[in-house]
Amino acid sequence: MYRPKILHIATGGTIAMAKGEDGSLAPIESNEDLLKMVPEIDGFAQVHTIRLSSFDSADLSPPFWLDLARVIHEEYENYDGFVVSHGTDTMAYSAAALSYILQELDKPVVLTGSQIAIGVIGSDGKRNLVNAFRVATSDIAEVMVVFGSKIIRGVRARKISAFSLEAFESINENAIGEIGLQLRFSKSRATRRAGRRLLYTPAMEPSVGLVTIHPGLRGEVLEYMVDHHEGVILLGYGTGNIPVREEDSLVSVVKAATQKGKPVVVGTQCVLGSTNLSLYKVGKNVMNAGAIPSVDMTPEAALVKLMWVLGQTKDLSRVESMMMKSYCGEISKQLELTCHV
Ligand code: ASP
Repeated sequence: MYRPKILHIATGGTIAMAKGEDGSLAPIESNEDLLKMVPEIDGFAQVHTIRLSSFDSADLSPPFWLDLARVIHEEYENYDGFVVSHGTDTMAYSAAALSYILQELDKPVVLTGSQIAIGVIGSDGKRNLVNAFRVATSDIAEVMVVFGSKIIRGVRARKISAFSLEAFESINENAIGEIGLQLRFSKSRATRRAGRRLLYTPAMEPSVGLVTIHPGLRGEVLEYMVDHHEGVILLGYGTGNIPVREEDSLVSVVKAATQKGKPVVVGTQCVLGSTNLSLYKVGKNVMNAGAIPSVDMTPEAALVKLMWVLGQTKDLSRVESMMMKSYCGEISKQLELTCHV
C-alpha cells in the first residue's frame, strides 16, 4: 500500500521539548528523537523531517513566516502533505500567514503543538502529532491547526486556553473536522483537486500595530501607533465601537490616519461575532472617519492579513478592497457579500 510522503518541519515549541536530568524543559536534540516517540506514524506515512528552528513561538515573527512558507513552496512538488510542529502561543498567527501566502493548495498543510512537553507524563504531544500526520495524509487541501479533538481552518484558529488540552477553538465557524473514534470531516473543507495550481504570494509588511480600546485610552497613544506603523488594527468594543466623547478623540486620530493614506482596520475585542459599524453612532463615526471593518476575522487573521496586503500595496483603496475580500475563509461568505465600508 502506498504510504503518502509527508514533510515534517520542526520549528520548536513545547511539543519538541523534554525534561532534562535537572528537571527543566529543553528542546529535544534531534527531530529523529522526536519522531521516535510516535513510531505508529511509520505505518501510514513516509516521513522526512527537517528543523527550521527550535524557538519558543513567542520569538517567531513575519520573516520566519516567509521562511516557513518558502520551504513549503520549494518542497511542494516533492511531498503529499506537510506537518509543522510549532509552539502554541503564536500558532494561530503562523497558520494565518501560511494561509495567505500559500493559496489554492492541493494538499494539506497542518500545524500542531502541545500544551505539555512530549516527554512529560500526561502530554498531549504524541496524540496531537499522530493526528496531525493522519490529517496530513487525508483529502483536505488547506492550511489547518490540528489540536486536541479539532481540525481548524488556519485563519479561524485561536488559542483560547493556557490550561486546557483543548487549547484551540474555531472562531465564527465550525471546525472543519473532528477527531474522535474516527476522523470526521465537514463538507465545508476544501479537498485535493487535480489541476489546482499553488498561488504563492510571499509578501509581508511587518510594520502593523494592534491596539485594544479600553476605557481611558488616550488619543495620543493611538497617534503614536499610527505614526510608527504602516497600518493599525483597532479592537473596539462589541460590534466595533470606539469612544467619541473625549477631547483628544480617537476618532479624529483615525480620520487623520486615513487622510494620510494609512489604513486603520476596526475589529472587535469580543471572542465571537462580527463588526457592524453602522449599528451605533460610536461605530458610525469611526466608519465615516475611514476605518475599514474587519467583519468576523479573528484579530490574528486580521493583523497578519493587513501585513500581507501592505506587503503588496500601500494604496489605501486597494488595501481596503483586499481587506474586505475573503481569500481563504477568513471572512464568512454571507458577511462578505453584505458588508460595506
Ligand atoms: N511558549 C510555548 C511556545 O509557544 C508554548 C507552547 O508551545 O505550548 O513555544
